[in-house]
Amino acid sequence: MSSSKLREAALARRGIYAGVDLLSLAKKLWALEAMRSEGGLPRIHFATRSSSYTSGRAWSRQLTLRIGMDSSVEDVVEVLLHELVHCACPRRTHHGELFCRRLIACANECFDLDLVAADLLALPRGSHKNLAYAIDRAIRDAMISRSVREKFLQLAPARLEFSCAAKKRAARSEARALHAESMLAAWEKKLKTAERLVMKWKKRASYYRSRPMRELQVTSVIQSHNGTRALEVGGLAHVVQDERKGGSSNG
Ligand SMILES: [Zn+2]
Repeated sequence: MSSSKLREAALARRGIYAGVDLLSLAKKLWALEAMRSEGGLPRIHFATRSSSYTSGRAWSRQLTLRIGMDSSVEDVVEVLLHELVHCACPRRTHHGELFCRRLIACANECFDLDLVAADLLALPRGSHKNLAYAIDRAIRDAMISRSVREKFLQLAPARLEFSCAAKKRAARSEARALHAESMLAAWEKKLKTAERLVMKWKKRASYYRSRPMRELQVTSVIQSHNGTRALEVGGLAHVVQDERKGGSSNG
């Protein structure tokens, strides 16, 4: 992984993705009128994965956002909103109508979308057979078509001003991450070579183990009384070479 990708993943684990401060945005989402939240912002744990799939999980007072590092920022923000709405809804609401209506209202209020709840509630449920996921997709599409990315940046710009000590720590971490990546690549290469050599010597060992059976079944040389040299092969004396006369016969 390149150093810029590593840096992006490290920032995402701190809640900064594509220049947006997700924690700061979450505070604004939590304060929306349509959210009807109670209490402070739930604890948010940011994690990453190397794919274009972002997922989330919510409990009443905390949520996890697993950011796919190839996801669009609209996707990430939409999943964050979805999980926050779970936290704000009464227990056991799950993906019911209350949840769906609140999700749509929050998206409209925060991003100036004009989604019509009745239309979205009538959407086909899609392959997951889940209306909330179909609504997620509709919100994401509306975000993209209305170019709300700029709005994210206005609402919650990431401020990457770190103290001198933090910069040094980040540089040390980055150097260690790069070293770890290069060591991993080197040892993976060695592992491949080792696997190839193990196969080669396994085949050779197997060949030499079977060779005495195939080639050295001649277990004894019998010198017959008339000077004929008989070879006992596999328990049967059947090849005979007369050394003196140079002829041969079966014995
Ligand atoms: Zn959900």
